[in-house]
Amino acid sequence: MEITDIQDWGLGLSEHVLIAGPCSAESPEQIETIAKGLRGSNIELFRAGVWKPRTRPGSFEGIGNDALGWLEIARDILNVPVTVEVAKTSHVEAALKAGVDVLWIGARTTVNPFSVQEICEALRGTDIPVMVKNPINPDLQLWLGAFERLNKVGINKLAAIHRGFSDPYEKRYRNKPEWSMPIHLKRMLPGISVICDPSHICGTREIIASVSQRAINFGLDGLMIETHHDPDNAWSDAKQQITPDMLKIICENLNFRETLEEHPEAISELDAFRQKVDLVDAQILELMADRFQIIKQIGEYKKEQNLAVFQPNRWQDVMQSRIKAGVKKGMTEKFMKSLLFAIHEESVKKQEAQLKEVPTSSKV
Ligand code: PEP
Ligand code: MN
Repeated sequence: MEITDIQDWGLGLSEHVLIAGPCSAESPEQIETIAKGLRGSNIELFRAGVWKPRTRPGSFEGIGNDALGWLEIARDILNVPVTVEVAKTSHVEAALKAGVDVLWIGARTTVNPFSVQEICEALRGTDIPVMVKNPINPDLQLWLGAFERLNKVGINKLAAIHRGFSDPYEKRYRNKPEWSMPIHLKRMLPGISVICDPSHICGTREIIASVSQRAINFGLDGLMIETHHDPDNAWSDAKQQITPDMLKIICENLNFRETLEEHPEAISELDAFRQKVDLVDAQILELMADRFQIIKQIGEYKKEQNLAVFQPNRWQDVMQSRIKAGVKKGMTEKFMKSLLFAIHEESVKKQEAQLKEVPTSSKV
């Protein structure tokens, strides 16, 4: 897939993009006050929702087309490009006509390939940058699919926004971060910038600073943070918005990890650790091979004795004892479970294959 680096979009965006602005555009005065408050911050792109996808009807659904013109106010005050969310053809047409610099596709839209395709058709022939939020459910394929559709109509200026995933059992976050998802996306789409949206992950402003730092620690490429001069009275997402001053404090306290290029002396020190890790990995592989050798012998025995490959009681014992031992040594239960499942699945597959093998003596 062809992806133009965010720094080459011609909009002055850096490798650590900061996107800020209100959840929704409410009035020209609101946009002006917020933009003035953001002076002196590191903002590189101003956001404001104009059409708001509300989960239930009755809440504020955005001002609509009229608010598009207000974005100019922020552009003039801050001298940065502006971005809005689009969800259908009429939004794309209006946003393009109004000269919006970047579009984003919201989580409730990414989830629906029909809507994404409709947006793509409206974008055909343009080269406006598009940022795609993750779908509300943790489905990497849907997220990837949206990028592929956009790429097919010629949009190469692409970025991703990680805003967390809906989970009814989640208590701490509004949307569970599932950090492995954005990291996996970065592996699948080399060159893409993945920007974290801590506002929609957190749902409450108190934990935005710590989630922002985690995003940086995981190597994500920027932050999109909802910012309002009077967050408690915002017309949407009041609990999660922060003031421009709070944003500045959060950004000043972020600790950006240095890359190896900036730290050449670290390479040889890291190499020493890595050699040790390589050795341990080699030992793990040797032991794993020994284990599968024994599994093979057990397989032969089960075959001779006509015993079932899967023995549930033994499996329960193995799981319980190994998980307990692993947790005692500092590994998480989740990690132990997935490790044991992977080993067990491979063992069962190998023994099943043995059962199907024709004994050498009966081969003609
Ligand atoms: C938003 O950014 O205001 C928004 C509606 O977000 P999401 O699509 O992540 O829910
Ligand atoms: Mn919002």
